[in-house]
Amino acid sequence: MSKIGIKPIADIFISHIHADHVTGLPGMLMLLNQAEPEGTVRIYGPRGIGAYVRAQERTLGFERNYPLDIVELTEAEGVAMTAETFDVVYKRLRHRTRCLGYAVCENQGRGGSASRKRVNSACRKDRRGGGCSAGSR
Ligand SMILES: [Zn+2]
Repeated sequence: MSKIGIKPIADIFISHIHADHVTGLPGMLMLLNQAEPEGTVRIYGPRGIGAYVRAQERTLGFERNYPLDIVELTEAEGVAMTAETFDVVYKRLRHRTRCLGYAVCENQGRGGSASRKRVNSACRKDRRGGGCSAGSR
């Protein structure tokens, strides 16, 4: 834990590459140096997020003291990540650029069991305004 209260973050989900959604990312990645992440930090996002992050690192000249993995989600929908008790599912949303909505869904400890059915279920819940949430501006 750092003196300035930055907590380690393991996973970062980016919906789309518009300025109001990504310009804070380089600063957050720099601050994570002080949080001393315990493992790989992963950024999930639409195609192009890797090029954006690498360009920011190169242009701003910052160095990390932790490994960074960038996962570009190129399918229309799927499972972004699976943890012990939940999955993060995603689905392409209608927007002016490639955009993904995410939903966190319990997996009852099955780990890795999220399927297309679960993605669709999460999105149905979102449309009704309950349960999982996914959205963009
Ligand atoms: Zn936007």
